[in-house]
Amino acid sequence: MSIESILSEVFGYPAFRGPQQGIIEHVTAGGDALVLMPTGGGKSLCYQIPAIARQRAGQGIAVVISPLIALMHDQVGALHEAGVSAAFLNSTLSSQQASDTERALVQGNITLLYAAPERVTTARFLAQMDSLAERGCLSLFAIDEAHCVSQWGHDFRPEYRALTVLHERYPQVPRVALTATADALTRADIIERLQLQGAHLFVSSFDRPNIRYTIVEKRDATAQLLRFIRDEHLGDAGIVYCQSRKKVEETAELLCHHGIPALPYHAGLDAKVRQANQDQFLCTDGVVMVATIAFGMGIDKPDVRFVAHLDMPKNIEGYYQETGRAGRDGLPADAWMCYGLQDVVNQRRMIDESPAEEEFKQVLRGKLEALLGLAEATDCRRVRLLRYFGEESGECHNCDNCLAPPAVWDATDAARKLLSTVYRVRQMSGFGFGAGHIIDILRGKVTDKVAQRGHQGLSTFGIGADLSESQWRAVLRQLLATDAVAVDAKAFNTLALTDASRAVLKGDMPVHLRVAAAKAGHTKSRPGATTALPKAVLVLDAAAQARFAALKAWRAAVAREHNLPAYVIFHDATLAAIAQAAPQTLDALQGISGLGTRKLEAYGEQVLTVVAASVSQDVLDAVG
Ligand code: ADP
Repeated sequence: MSIESILSEVFGYPAFRGPQQGIIEHVTAGGDALVLMPTGGGKSLCYQIPAIARQRAGQGIAVVISPLIALMHDQVGALHEAGVSAAFLNSTLSSQQASDTERALVQGNITLLYAAPERVTTARFLAQMDSLAERGCLSLFAIDEAHCVSQWGHDFRPEYRALTVLHERYPQVPRVALTATADALTRADIIERLQLQGAHLFVSSFDRPNIRYTIVEKRDATAQLLRFIRDEHLGDAGIVYCQSRKKVEETAELLCHHGIPALPYHAGLDAKVRQANQDQFLCTDGVVMVATIAFGMGIDKPDVRFVAHLDMPKNIEGYYQETGRAGRDGLPADAWMCYGLQDVVNQRRMIDESPAEEEFKQVLRGKLEALLGLAEATDCRRVRLLRYFGEESGECHNCDNCLAPPAVWDATDAARKLLSTVYRVRQMSGFGFGAGHIIDILRGKVTDKVAQRGHQGLSTFGIGADLSESQWRAVLRQLLATDAVAVDAKAFNTLALTDASRAVLKGDMPVHLRVAAAKAGHTKSRPGATTALPKAVLVLDAAAQARFAALKAWRAAVAREHNLPAYVIFHDATLAAIAQAAPQTLDALQGISGLGTRKLEAYGEQVLTVVAASVSQDVLDAVG
């Protein structure tokens, strides 16, 4: 069976996406590969189709190594729905279930087996694989989330390091490693750690053109979030990331209080509550998950319409991975971040105070700086993001800066005033002061502290009265972003000059800032953005919308019965296409994207019944 027919018959998709075809051909033919593809790019098919093709050619089972238990359950469920024999081995199984799966594995009755890395490297599991390998029944290793092997990735898992055993023990079995995180450092580390020097490297464009990036200056973060959701995403599923558990809970509560269905998720919650919240997010339409970064890996819900950050992540890899969870279905989605001076100070402090080696901290600071550069940028965000991943591109016309180009002012002079105040204060008092005090001096405010220290006598006192406090904070953020000033975490977050300060003080390094933050970040809403319907449905007329609603209700019942998220049964996009086409026969249903042979057999008649009932309801409504 060709890979094309597997794509259409098993998965119901008419065409490969991006570079999928080349990757699938290479891996099916037995080649090793390292696949770098953004979240939502379609990595799963890159090992699922080769696994099916090789199994059908008598080459045995594929083992998929994944760190994510939730993902295993849903992926295996989705494969079953598509008629593919798949199973998983992880800690959620009872010992009876695990031994049933192991028996099926040894008998070669499974096409894809998902297992956690710590399971794969146990003596027991290796013995089972030895027996398969001896019989030529081990067809492929897929190492998902391969960046977990690298300490430079954002989710280092030491047990991934032990996966070299696969290559050493079964050199004849092809391996495909996949990740959505791949700056140059991480990429090199994956190749070295997993000994993939001989593998073909497939690097996709990291662009996610359907995601709109917006970064706004933090004022009243929760009010800003509320406005963003109300204006742009009422009724949509979304994820809101916060740094602390406390903030997660407070924000979820606040959203609920304002009528937005929101749930909290963080590592401090009871495991049962976490699981229940996750299930509800996956299975119910329009739920907002407020979470720490503990949430999201392995959540492949395709219709997440927005990802919002109330606090700044640590680096661009993390930001891109998290925002990439929006719009996997290819429909318009938003990545919205709100950030301020305190974020910069907090992140810096976390690095400075960590017990890591200085060399390591230096790398982390560099990564943070790149993210700050993105946040402070006045030009196209996407160009910067993609450049970070080594990709050149043109302006995107789908980020805040492209859609509403910010006016820019030359803050070089202001930056010099700020730095010389930092310098003079330290010189006069013998120690440094924090941001608030420095800004008070610049603005000529005689606070108690200023008076006590005699700082109104400084030559820079009041020389920045023409700028507001928030403008001064913007200048400071920019200086922190470019490392032209440092926050000394060991000395009460006081400001200090750095080697890079000199260039700014001498006027050699221009500083440009966006004008009035109030204007920035307010991009126009999309047409129809205030409606409570998901974007996929907007093109449907009233009758088709009614069919769509009926199909969704039917899907929810099926999903409940199968204990799977609704999108595993059918994506919104598939239901919308059915609602639009209003098919009356199985023939007319065939060919709709997302409907493979197995699903057509299993659900075709039911879908036709739902459509017919909805059509006759229309007629009744029209008549009476
Ligand atoms: P990734 O693992 O790269 O984040 P997935 O493998 O989860 O992405 O794929 C994202 C979504 O795109 C899934 O819902 C999947 O069914 C869909 N998809 C993948 N390949 C295709 C294709 N060729 N045509 C249509 N949809 C696809």
